[in-house]
Amino acid sequence: MSTPTAPTSVAARARSILEQRGVRPTSQRVRVAELLLTSPCHLTAEQILASLRQSSGRVSKATVYNTLKLFVEQGLARPIHADPERCVYDSTMTPHHHFQDLATGEMIDIPPDQLSFAKMPPLPPGMEVADVEVVVRLRRKA
Ligand SMILES: [Zn+2]
Repeated sequence: MSTPTAPTSVAARARSILEQRGVRPTSQRVRVAELLLTSPCHLTAEQILASLRQSSGRVSKATVYNTLKLFVEQGLARPIHADPERCVYDSTMTPHHHFQDLATGEMIDIPPDQLSFAKMPPLPPGMEVADVEVVVRLRRKA
C-alpha cells in the first residue's frame, strides 16, 4: 500500500466492502462501515453511535445494533467479548490476539505468530480446538 492508485473516498471504499459481501449499501450501513471496516480497528456499538451522532445527527441505537449484527453475520466484523460490560467489534477477521488497556478498554492487535502456548490442557472427550484467542490485560506500572 505505498502508492494509492486512485483517490477513492472512504465512503466509496465502505460501499464496495459491503457490495462485495452482498450487503445492500444503505446510507446508514455505509456510515457504520466507514468507521469500522475501512481500516483495522476495534469499536464498541456506543463508540460508533457517538461518532455518527457527532458527525451527522440522528441515528438510532437500534440501527447501529442491527447493522453490527448484519456485519457479523456476513463475516465483515467479529464480536470480541473481552469485557462483559460491552462488546467490541473487530474489523480484522484473521485469527489474532489482543492487548487490552484496562483503564481505557482500548484493544491492540497481537499478531498470532508473536504468542505461543507451551501447554494445552486435555480437551473434553469428543471436542477439538476451534480457535484460541488470548486477551492480555494491561495496566500502567505503579
Ligand atoms: Zn483485533
